[in-house]
Amino acid sequence: MITENLQYFWKELPPGVKLVAVSKFHPLEAIQEAYNAGQRVFGENRPQELCQKAQTLPADIQWHFLGHLQTNKLKMVLPYAALVESVDTLHLLSEIDRWGRANDKVIPVLLELHIGAEKTKQGFTEEEVLELLFRAEEFRFVRFCGLMGMASHTDDAATVDADFARIADFFAYLRDLFPELSDFSELSIGMSGDWRLAIPHGATIVRIGTAIFGERSL
Ligand SMILES: *Cc1c(COP(=O)(O)O)cnc(C)c1O
Repeated sequence: MITENLQYFWKELPPGVKLVAVSKFHPLEAIQEAYNAGQRVFGENRPQELCQKAQTLPADIQWHFLGHLQTNKLKMVLPYAALVESVDTLHLLSEIDRWGRANDKVIPVLLELHIGAEKTKQGFTEEEVLELLFRAEEFRFVRFCGLMGMASHTDDAATVDADFARIADFFAYLRDLFPELSDFSELSIGMSGDWRLAIPHGATIVRIGTAIFGERSL
């Protein structure tokens, strides 16, 4: 099934939209099957799980980190992550920069924007992202690659569409305002339940778990 599901997404996604196969909570065999089918980009949201999988599975996999990242876990994630999609505090950003400096490695990141309605949802406000990008050059070991966001958790397509419209507008605004950030080109929106709504808003990355690997057993 995993191979068929991947083939479906490769066929349906427009060129230029990167598919991240979100493999969190799924075993090595499932990832290996997806890898054998040709998938190379995977997403994980727990540091230890990412670290263990990255050390075991083929080295040409690109791992995206998608979860809440505590600063004491950076060493489990930053050596392996091709992209940290979930930078959500200034403190985390500063610590990533510090780790990059110490390890002479520039870390590609997305800033996670709080867009959905849920109070618990993590992420920066728009004002915080603006403040931070005005100071972007202070973070010499961070590469700002774009924005990540999650829409409200609802079946109401109009609400989700409005969430995606808002982040897409803000993304376009930032690209105009900060042309010197030449890598600021990724908009990571869309998951199993709402990716079709994300595409017309210019998603460049979709993060698909359940629709590829099935339900997660927690
Ligand atoms: C788990 C997760 C996904 C994938 O969710 P599905 O609904 O299973 O596709 C995408 N993005 C983030 C940030 C996640 O934590």
